[in-house]
Amino acid sequence: MRVVILGASGAGKGTQAKALTEHFAMRHISTGDILREEVKKDSAVCRAVKRLMDRGDLIPDELMLSILEGVLVEEERFILDGFPRTYSQALALSDICNRIGRPIDVVISIEVPDDEVIQRITGRFVCPECTMMFHEVFLPPAKFGICDKCGAFLTQRPDDTMATVKNRLRIFHDLTSPIIDYYGRRGVLIKKSGVGDAGLISADLIKELEEKFNGHHY
Ligand code: AMP
Repeated sequence: MRVVILGASGAGKGTQAKALTEHFAMRHISTGDILREEVKKDSAVCRAVKRLMDRGDLIPDELMLSILEGVLVEEERFILDGFPRTYSQALALSDICNRIGRPIDVVISIEVPDDEVIQRITGRFVCPECTMMFHEVFLPPAKFGICDKCGAFLTQRPDDTMATVKNRLRIFHDLTSPIIDYYGRRGVLIKKSGVGDAGLISADLIKELEEKFNGHHY
């Protein structure tokens, strides 16, 4: 099964992708996570990529595609989170999938109103070691500033400031939203509200996917 998960940053894509990955034993491919690993390296390209990410701007397609194609070629079953973000990326993804003979089966769009996205993102903290996410209101760690899972100090992503979140939302509405219709026309789209209990949303999505594939997780 090959799934794409779409939604604004803060809609809960990562959380839902993790739940589906565990249930269906697929690989979670997050382009944001891949890029955050890449920019730890010290090179001119990595520094330029980091500047774009810190502002919430998109990384050029050629670079994204060169990273992604290598990853997709190796995986038969995956959830792709963070890609595509533009119409041209959607076309490029479809090209890659055709070339390797592994089409995308389902596209999930997680929908959350902008004001909720802003509240979620500006209050979130992440563990730099194990990537576990926390929120100052919705999911506070047991000990302030410390990861419950591995004990590392929590940090805030540099692109989780108000100005950057607003820029990311603008890009999402201008460039990413149109591809939701594109997948709707191709008959592979599942729209799901991302408001409410994350566990219930995952359970709902798992049920829909099981029904769609009649229990065959291929
Ligand atoms: P995310 O973790 O998905 O919110 O991504 C964090 C940042 O990585 C984005 O704000 C972009 O700067 C960059 N990024 C991630 N995926 C893509 C993509 N498909 N195309 C361009 N830039 C991306």
